[in-house]
Amino acid sequence: MIDSFGRNIKYMRISVTELCNLRCRYCMPEEGVKKRAHEDMMTAEETLDAVRAAASLGIEKIRITGGEPLVKRGIISLCRNISEIPGVRELCMTTNGTLLEEYAPGLREAGVDRLNISLDTLDSEKYRSITRRGDLREALRGIEAAGEAGFEKIKINTVLMGGFNDDEIEDFVRLTEKNPIEVRFIELMPIGGGVSFDRGRFISCRHVLSKVPELKPLERPDGVADMYALPGGAGKVGLIRSISCHFCGRCDKIRLTADGMIKPCLHSSREISIRGKSREEMKELFQKAIMEKPEQREALDADNPSHAGRDMNAIGG
Ligand code: SAM
Ligand code: SF4
Repeated sequence: MIDSFGRNIKYMRISVTELCNLRCRYCMPEEGVKKRAHEDMMTAEETLDAVRAAASLGIEKIRITGGEPLVKRGIISLCRNISEIPGVRELCMTTNGTLLEEYAPGLREAGVDRLNISLDTLDSEKYRSITRRGDLREALRGIEAAGEAGFEKIKINTVLMGGFNDDEIEDFVRLTEKNPIEVRFIELMPIGGGVSFDRGRFISCRHVLSKVPELKPLERPDGVADMYALPGGAGKVGLIRSISCHFCGRCDKIRLTADGMIKPCLHSSREISIRGKSREEMKELFQKAIMEKPEQREALDADNPSHAGRDMNAIGG
């Protein structure tokens, strides 16, 4: 469906849970989040109805996210049911990867097409520190398991943080030399735990190009990522300039939270509830949300935090 500013909205991110087995410092509080009452959250049937309603408006790509989607009970059957909905052409998932060793084959079999796996460092001490509890070996085994299960073109999401992982930029880029993966550097955003990060942590994607000048731009951007590659490299490098660049003109998505709120824009507090609505009513509310997508987000930098009104684990990224 075309929004008020001529953008074709084809993509919906669905957060299926606010809960997570990690506690990334830039995302959620150390104590985690209180498990909400069952009746406050979307049921699987409501989620499927929401996808049917959105698909009837031209949403063709669905991304399952969270929290950590793989801690959600029944995630495989939810994915299978979503992948079978007419109009859904691509089903993707964003995960921290730590549970993929167990789940990757089931996800593949359930019709998940692509995986984005978050990994901010290749150093086990730093991994434990940034996730406040994670084991790097589990994430790496998860990435391997995803490849073995037949997932192709795996994307690695790396949040850039000055003084934390800018010294690993080259190591991450080198992963694309022989492996057909895409490493995507994402600028840290002042949202969720990121709001209280020191100014020096917010560095721009320019650092990637200055650390690895041989990266060559590729012609076509991939959604909001500007694409690059090493000469002769098997994989690609994506730069997501969430702060340094206004890519709102390229935004083709809406978000649905685990408690049933449509978010027309990540950085706005505007939310529209679809809890308890019929599929026809949901369709009207999705139409309204799409037409309400703002042309541009408001100012966003270390001094101007996001107006999202929720931590990132309760939105889905
Ligand atoms: N748990 C899954 C994961 O970590 O991939 C999915 C949910 S997580 C909220 C989705 C994405 O949001 C991750 O790639 C994470 O790195 C990113 N993210 C969370 N907080 C962020 C922040 N303050 N700035 C930039 N990216 C953030
Ligand atoms: Fe969990 Fe993902 Fe947030 Fe990390 S970024 S705390 S893995 S939801």
